[in-house]
Amino acid sequence: VYGRLAGDTFGACLPVNELDTARIKRELSEFKVKQGNIEHHILIHIGIYEITERDLEVSVMFDRANMALATIKEEYREHIAYYDEKMRAQVLWSQKISTQLHDALKNKNIIPYLQPIVDTDGNIKGAEALVRWIHPEKGFLSPASFIPVFEKNGMIVEVDKYMWRCACEILSRWSKEKRDLFLSVNISPKDFYFMDVAAELSGLVAEYGIPASSLRVEITETVMMNNSDDRMDDIRKLKEKGFIVEMDDFGSGYSSLNMLKDMPVDVLKIDMKFLSAAQDNERARTILANIIHLSGDLIIASLTEGVETAAQHKALTEMGCQLFQGYHFSKPVSVEEFEKMITQSSQSHPQDQPS
Ligand code: C2E
Ligand code: CA
Ligand code: CA
Repeated sequence: VYGRLAGDTFGACLPVNELDTARIKRELSEFKVKQGNIEHHILIHIGIYEITERDLEVSVMFDRANMALATIKEEYREHIAYYDEKMRAQVLWSQKISTQLHDALKNKNIIPYLQPIVDTDGNIKGAEALVRWIHPEKGFLSPASFIPVFEKNGMIVEVDKYMWRCACEILSRWSKEKRDLFLSVNISPKDFYFMDVAAELSGLVAEYGIPASSLRVEITETVMMNNSDDRMDDIRKLKEKGFIVEMDDFGSGYSSLNMLKDMPVDVLKIDMKFLSAAQDNERARTILANIIHLSGDLIIASLTEGVETAAQHKALTEMGCQLFQGYHFSKPVSVEEFEKMITQSSQSHPQDQPS
């Protein structure tokens, strides 16, 4: 049984022993259509659901084949994908957390963790706010298990707005306690799509009576991939309002240098993970040293994240890097633990205490 389902999608149902995947792969990889003198290569993808539950509705079977298909849609070399239970579990998980998000925010099951950002001497200057979900059934969830889902369906906007508010709340408390620290928050590319980020953030800092300069905003260069002129305006607006703009994950993308030419950022956040073993790899070391040098020449401050050893901290300091973040100083911790940490460190360095 076969037929056209919609648009360029076709469906077929056949006995499993008639399915010659080796042949399909071979033929699909060289599939061409000739039109006059022009040969068109046509990219065809097949999603397969092997019928193990005969009582399922046919439409559900097609949904499953479609789920498999979706996993290879962007691939040029993979032509066939089989449905498996993991795919279904992922879809169910996405649906589940999407319906739970609203309550989780309301019940404060979603909270910011703070990872210290230190200077060349190891003194804490601020922190990055990283989201965590204390899930009633699943326990402690790291962002990898839910951020991609919310990035995809746009609900990330709710998470981010909430995280920015939490950051402002913490900053306003610190300001009353005369603690001069900054917080960095993450901005997803989708945030720019759904709201005026600069207006939203200025509204928040005004509401909490804190200076915009104490809230740093981390954006990745992927925000520039669509509507780059609009995004450039957004970044300028953020800077006009007094926010410090940081380019997150610098070096991990494909066009970092090109972005740097146009994007008016204040801080480059360089991720060590992309230059693994920088301390003993001469090439990685040269790249790092030159990025730090370049940002200095452009009067952009540099911050290295993913610093895991004292040797890295020392080497990066010698290269001229000013700020550091990583497991060597601390992993992300609860706000309570972070506040304990800064109280202890100001007690051990009494000269740093605000007068
Ligand atoms: P990111 O913004 O690059 O955050 C840094 C990540 O590196 C954090 O992972 C942090 O725990 C981890 N990390 C810190 N120090 C080290 C180190 O020394 N070594 C290694 N190997 N890793 C280190 P985390 O907290 O799991 O967050 C993952 C990503 O999720 C973040 O990457 C960010 O892209 C996203 N994310 C987290 N919170 C938010 C949020 O509130 N909003 C949005 N839009 N994205 C968020
Ligand atoms: Ca970040
Ligand atoms: Ca980063």
